Amino acid sequence: MGDREMERALSEQCGSKGIPMEPPYIALYHSGELKRRAEALEARLSSCDICPRECGVNRLEGERGFCRSGRLPLVATVCSHHGEEPVISGRRGSGTVFFGNCNLRCVYCQNHQISQDRTGRRSVEMDCHALAERLIYLQDELRCHNINFVSPSHFVPQLVRAVLEAVPMGLRLPLVYNSSGYDSVRSLRELEGIVSVYLPDLRYASDRWAWRLSGAKRYVSHARAAILEMYRQVGNLVPDEEGLARKGLIVRHLVLPDGLAGSEESLAWLANEVSQQVTVSIMSQYYPANRASRIPALARTLRGSEYAEVIEIIDNLGLENGWIQEMGAADSYLPDFEREGAPFTSPTVNPA
Ligand code: SF4
Repeated sequence: MGDREMERALSEQCGSKGIPMEPPYIALYHSGELKRRAEALEARLSSCDICPRECGVNRLEGERGFCRSGRLPLVATVCSHHGEEPVISGRRGSGTVFFGNCNLRCVYCQNHQISQDRTGRRSVEMDCHALAERLIYLQDELRCHNINFVSPSHFVPQLVRAVLEAVPMGLRLPLVYNSSGYDSVRSLRELEGIVSVYLPDLRYASDRWAWRLSGAKRYVSHARAAILEMYRQVGNLVPDEEGLARKGLIVRHLVLPDGLAGSEESLAWLANEVSQQVTVSIMSQYYPANRASRIPALARTLRGSEYAEVIEIIDNLGLENGWIQEMGAADSYLPDFEREGAPFTSPTVNPA
């Protein structure tokens, strides 16, 4: 199946029937459940098990675990992002909150300026009320289509607290949870009815490579369990009448050189264990950023032949919904977080 057929299949399948315009977290706010969830998540910061690393440190008292993050959210950039998938960015952009730090340490991370910033210089620690005001800014001033939390896995309690603060200020946009996939199922359960769109990566099919390239133990089982939980909560992608994501799961897969992402195995798992209808976003933009050039297999961009093989696999598996990023100048997708409020110069994902 060609790229354009994938795009057409998506638009034919989805509709907006039965999906309320008001995001479900509003009802949770009025019932008191949103407050209960924030408090339950915050209590877990005293012996942190918010992500699969389960460091057990007391972040409420300033202790830091693997993610080097404390009680307050670290925010690197808040901006309107026009380079996400078309159902996320739409015409007016996605209201993106880039959290600082990360619970992975990918040697090739394109966001390493903020995700692996040992100096802490590029992110600002702010309280959840200030973050809530930034969400309102994205909604009311920049008129974004949604709030898109990038790298939220280590800040789930702070995310929920900020939404709790933002609802009485008028927040009404759907929330997108945009993660590496290295998420705790227990934490994700607390997001049911809060997050409308899950946008996780599925990076590896091999724990050995996940450990070597991202420093993550048991990435495969954790990411697969997380994706199954996300799918249980929101199901297949449902755009509204404007073609914007109202609800659902989109799984991103970055193809790595030399087959290191285990594309065939991961995509087969998605088709067989999640759904053949699941929406996928296949990415060709790998670039040897950060420390990647120290690993010979990762010291180059993707070959056209490698990418063509993955597209053929998608075709053979019958995965019909989503996008395939075109091959292009991979370095044009690199963000620069020194450019305040505008880290991207070009869209990161094009409709196939
Ligand atoms: S969120 Fe941070 S401190 Fe908590 S378990 Fe994960 S890496 Fe450790």
